[in-house]
Order: sequence, then C-alpha cells, then structure tokens
Amino acid sequence: MNTEQFKEFGYAAVNYIANYVDTMRTRSVLPDVEPGYLYDKIPDEIPETGEDWRELLKDFDEIIMPGITHWQSPRFHAFFPTGSSYPAIIGEMFSAALGIVGIHWAASPACTELEVKMMNWLGKFMNLPEELLNSSKGPGGGVIQNSASESTFLCLLAAKAKSIRRIKKLHPELNEDEISSRLIAYSSDQANSSVEKAGILGSIKMKLLKTDHDGNLNREVFLEAIKNDYNAGFFPCYMVATLGTTGICTSDPFDIIGSICKTYNMWLHIDAAYAGAALILPEYKYFLKGVEYADSFNFNPHKWLLVNYDCSALWIKEASVLVNALEVSRIYLKDNCEKENTQLPEYRNWQISLGRRFRALKLWFTLRSYGKKGLQEHIRNHINLANLFHTLVENDSRFETVCPARMGLVCFRLKGDNKYTEQLHEKLMSRRNIYMIAATLNGKFILRFVVCSRLSIEADIRYAWQEIVSQADLVLSNNPC
Ligand code: PLP
Repeated sequence: MNTEQFKEFGYAAVNYIANYVDTMRTRSVLPDVEPGYLYDKIPDEIPETGEDWRELLKDFDEIIMPGITHWQSPRFHAFFPTGSSYPAIIGEMFSAALGIVGIHWAASPACTELEVKMMNWLGKFMNLPEELLNSSKGPGGGVIQNSASESTFLCLLAAKAKSIRRIKKLHPELNEDEISSRLIAYSSDQANSSVEKAGILGSIKMKLLKTDHDGNLNREVFLEAIKNDYNAGFFPCYMVATLGTTGICTSDPFDIIGSICKTYNMWLHIDAAYAGAALILPEYKYFLKGVEYADSFNFNPHKWLLVNYDCSALWIKEASVLVNALEVSRIYLKDNCEKENTQLPEYRNWQISLGRRFRALKLWFTLRSYGKKGLQEHIRNHINLANLFHTLVENDSRFETVCPARMGLVCFRLKGDNKYTEQLHEKLMSRRNIYMIAATLNGKFILRFVVCSRLSIEADIRYAWQEIVSQADLVLSNNPC
C-alpha cells in the first residue's frame, strides 16, 4: 500500500467509523450469528497477491461487522463500560503510525516522559495522595499497564519480594522458598476474578474473605483470618481491596483495612478498575478515605474515562520494590543516557513485557480534548442516568432493586421466584435489543444494568426500560400468581 492508497483507505475508514458511531442505535447490540459463522467466509490461505483496500473494507463490512457485539452502543448495558472516544482513537492511530517500542528512555524519550506527565495529571485530578505520584519527592510513581489484572498481579509480586526480605531478617533460619510457600494474600469474596488469578500466577495462596449481606468486608473477619493464618504458620503479605466491585459496585473500607495492613506489614493494593474514575468528581472525594494506606492504586481509564482499551493506570508508593523484583539487566537494554538527576523511570522494569506501546498519547489526546469539565460531565451523566433507571425500577411495584444505584450500575429483579427474572433475561437476550448480564446476590438472581456508552442519553434509558417492561409483561402473564 503506497501513500496515496493509504490516504484513500484512511479517509474511507474514518468516514466509515464516524458513520458507524452516528448510526449505532440502528443496529442490534448483539449479533445474530451462530458459533463458527465466520469460518467458511474467510479463505483457508493468505491471498497470493495483495488485494485492493476496497475489498478489505467491503469484507470488513460484510463479514466482520455482522459478528460484532456493539460495546459502544447506548443499548449496551453489560459488564462495565469500555472506553472509546474520537481523540483516543486518533491517539491510537498516531501510536500505530509511529510504531515505536518503549523499551527504555532512549527508545523514544517522549514515550516515557509523556507517560510520567500523564500519570501525574491523572493522579492530581483524582486527588490521590502525593506520595503515589512521580511528581512527589519520594519513590512513588505511576505507570500505564495493559489491565487491572496485570496491575494486581504485579503488585502481588512486589508485595511478595518485600515480604520475603522482611521475614528473612526476622527468621534467618528460613530459606526464601520456605518463606515464599508460607506467604498468604487476602481479598473479599466480591473481588474480581483477576485477584484470584493473581494468586495463581504468583504462587501465593489467595484467601477470599466472606463479606456480609451487603457485600461489605468486615474488620473482624479480616482480623480473624490474619490471626488464624499466623497461628497456622502463614505470613500474611498482601491485601487487595476494591473500590467498586464487579458484581454490585460496593467498596471496601480502606481506612479500616489499611490500618490492619499497616499493623501486620501487609501491602495494600486498591483495585478501582471501574469506579476509580468517579474520583475526578469532588462529590465522590469521600471514597478516598483511607487511600493514604494504599501501597498501590489502580484504575482503568479504558473503562470509564473515554480512553480506548488498553490503558490501566497504576500508582505505586515505593516503586523501587517492584523494579527490584522485576529488573533483569542485559547489555542491549542499556540506553547509555545520563538520567541520574531526572527521576525518569525505566518502565520496562515496571511491567511484564519488555516492549511497550505509546499508550500515553491517546490518554493525552483524550484528557486535553475533553478537559476536566468534559470528563466530569461524562461521569456525572452516567451516574444521573443510572439514578433515573433506578427510579423507573422503583416506581414499578413488580420489580425491586437489590441495592442502591452505585456509579453507573443498577441491580434489580422481578419480585418473587428467581425463575421470573431468569425468563426475563432469556427473552431480552433473544431479542438482542439491549444487552445486560445476570448475577446472583444472596441467592437471588439479579440483572445488572450498567450505563456504558458515552453516547447514552435519557431516551436510551427509557428505551431500555420500555424493552424490559414489555418482556416482563409477557413473563408475568405466562406465570400467573
Ligand atoms: N477489577 C475490577 C473491580 C473489575 O470490575 C474488572 C473488570 O471488570 C477487573 C478488575 C479486570 O479488569 P481488566 O480487564 O483491566 O483486567
């Protein structure tokens, strides 16, 4: 493809994308295809000679589009949002065009330096403790990771390394393998699946503590687990607390958990993958209570802050612990640049892979295009729309909400037997007009309604509610009391 063809394809692609966004509501949010639908539509071999871009665009439209679930549609109310916005898309385009791999500072100084700056911008905007930021005098700093899962895992590795060092001093008779096999980590039974996976990957027993009826982790349960585990010969080392759990968006009490972690020398990681974005609103500042205890804090701008996947922001109070745990030197990794007085990080030692994409670019474009006000409006809009949906549910006596609306999430069900809500969900899914996922809470089958799209307006919420009511009418008429 030469430059002229690139321009033609590029303009056509941008037009296609803009039209896709503008006509999103006309499409079924869920695709109407069967598993394996694509296999026979794609040849078994790479074409012998190159094809014209028009063929690619045509096949994209005819083969790929029918198999797409429209995550950016205002009819998409499943999981949590996945960010997307025009400035972030263009940021991705520039990143692809530059095609750099930021293995060290000299590999593209702008890649490292913009990331440092963006992590400070974000951290300040969210009022995170100064100690976590690169701009502080101390050893803290922020980095962009691929995912919240990786962030939780990396901090587990840092906690593990730090604990082994500390325990070795206290118990010189134990070797590192013995200590490692006796380390134990905690989280709540509401924690995301990625927390359990971090334990598997890091070979540390991860105990998921039982929460109360409202999904809250209680001080006594945490303390008792630590004491029992100590008595059984374990060394507690890591706690993952959540701001905005995946199921019902509850949050752990960071002040209580944090002070326990401090007493027992445990690393506190806060997983705020989705709800962390709400910290940009002054009215949600109270969620910061106890955040000063956090050794690390993570949230995903690629969830609720309009930045395209992947962009997961992680701040670490003592970043050198992670760097020391992961640093592997090779002659080819030296950039031979004097950086002694700059405090510039070598981000390859803060992550799993050696190479890294220029993700700060899309973050920069998004933060500047929207500004603080635009981003705050976006989050407030979602919260207001969720509150509207909550009111609609509450005003229909056949339904019940199972917890308050939290951020952009409302959890609700048809009153009575679980089978009514199960049938409602099945009907909604088979119609494919809106997309919600189910969950269970205290033995009740519930539906999670999440405001996800940046395009969402009040009419979309009313549309979804009408769709739900129309199917609930059918379910209830088929199941007379
Ligand atoms: N933590 C929480 C609270 C989540 O809700 C999710 C995903 O929804 C994750 C972690 C995993 O995020 P990621 O896909 O970035 O690993």
